[in-house]
Amino acid sequence: MKNDYIKRVCDNLAIKSSHEPEFLQATNEVLESLDPVFKLNPELEQIGILERLIEPERTIIFRVPWVDDSGRVKVNRGFRVQFNSAIGPYKGGLRFHPSVDLSVIKFLGFEQIFKNSLTGLPLGGGKGGSDFDPKCKSDGEVMRFCQSFMNELYRHIGQFTDVPAGDIGVGAREIGYLFGQYKKLANEFSGVLTGKGLSYSGSLVRPEATGYGLCYYTDEVLRRLKGQGGLHDRRVAMSGSGNVAVFAAEKAAQMGAIVVTMSDSTGWVHAPNGIKLDVVKGIKLEHRGRISEYVKYDASAKYHEGRGVWSAAADVALPCATQNELTLDDAKQLVKNGCQAVVEGANMPSTPEAIAYLKKQSVLFGPAKAANAGGVAVSGLEMSQNSQRLSWTAQEVDDKLREVMFNIVNMSLNAAEKYGKSGDLAIGANIAGFERVADAMKAEGVV
Ligand code: NDP
Repeated sequence: MKNDYIKRVCDNLAIKSSHEPEFLQATNEVLESLDPVFKLNPELEQIGILERLIEPERTIIFRVPWVDDSGRVKVNRGFRVQFNSAIGPYKGGLRFHPSVDLSVIKFLGFEQIFKNSLTGLPLGGGKGGSDFDPKCKSDGEVMRFCQSFMNELYRHIGQFTDVPAGDIGVGAREIGYLFGQYKKLANEFSGVLTGKGLSYSGSLVRPEATGYGLCYYTDEVLRRLKGQGGLHDRRVAMSGSGNVAVFAAEKAAQMGAIVVTMSDSTGWVHAPNGIKLDVVKGIKLEHRGRISEYVKYDASAKYHEGRGVWSAAADVALPCATQNELTLDDAKQLVKNGCQAVVEGANMPSTPEAIAYLKKQSVLFGPAKAANAGGVAVSGLEMSQNSQRLSWTAQEVDDKLREVMFNIVNMSLNAAEKYGKSGDLAIGANIAGFERVADAMKAEGVV
């Protein structure tokens, strides 16, 4: 890192947030890449742009008591980090997973600032969640938890203030319970959450948006930077089997790719002839089952317990599960097997060491904040439809999603070129996302 100002901010943050490793990882990655921007715009230091960016505008931590099916009271911890509202109301999902803590929510909220900026829509950055684990809970338990979570959250959110959505562990069922409770408490039917069901003001293509957007982005960057056609005929290794992975696999197959792996937190499936998506959808989306069940329906596939999904031979890797799931060893294995592109569907799935290695080996690297922005983009479109009291057709929404993803590719490549980092999609995305937010923060004064 060459710039003194950036170095000072990173060093101070390393002390102040020493107990927040994921947050430090995310901030270091972004701040380091802004080096060329501060060379050209040293006046940004005077307005304390970085110190303001790394400190959330507001952090809410709250108790979530709920009653399990046996009548026992349980307590979880709830979070909402309202990170930055320079370009719009706070926007970002809710994650329910035992690994959730303040560091995880802050890293996700920080990333969200730049991702939302890249969409070109008026969306600020935020994120929330809880260490509650919806797995193995009854519908009644999940409902009571969601209601209790909203009993506190509702006073901090609103269609013009903060608009949460889903993330890991928060799908259609959870959004339904959360929305129902918000409506009851606020006595208002508004677009306060996105990812809603179609019968109560959700948007067509929202469930598919992150996965579809990931494939539109991947196809485009392969064409533009590798020059040998897009996803068609490529073998794709994918991790995860949740919302993002399932619809990324669907779109990849529609585009002529062969998806050869999928996983969950217990293991992974290798299907060299191509994953049968209807089977995965049945297991994961309809019955909340395990990916291990897949091999019962596909004799040519093999199930492997534990990690290892990146050891399968593939041309393209799409990590779609969770943070830091693709390590340096995984990156080496992918390169050894001839992988030409790693594009992130999950948030921060690749470790810094893995990214550095991939770049050194000239593997195309598509960063999460650009590649998975399709989900929040269609959430933004859901907000527009809610404000207009209108529903757009699937074709209209999908067309707009494609346009947003192509714009993100263009903005990233243009910013990289402008600052002498031609072809670097990660640096380009960070700079393009930063420029819009910094401009708005300059305009709003010190607030
Ligand atoms: P889901 O809960 O629908 O699915 C998550 C998937 O990842 C599951 O297959 C899950 O397996 C697996 N997984 C979760 N934690 C781990 C872990 N610690 N180790 C291995 N596997 C794990 O979540 P989404 O698909 O919505 O989200 C996946 C990623 O995409 C996250 O990083 C999220 O932040 C990001 N994202 C999601 C968006 C969205 O619109 N939903 C938008 C943009 C980004 P298991 O079932 O065993 O837990």
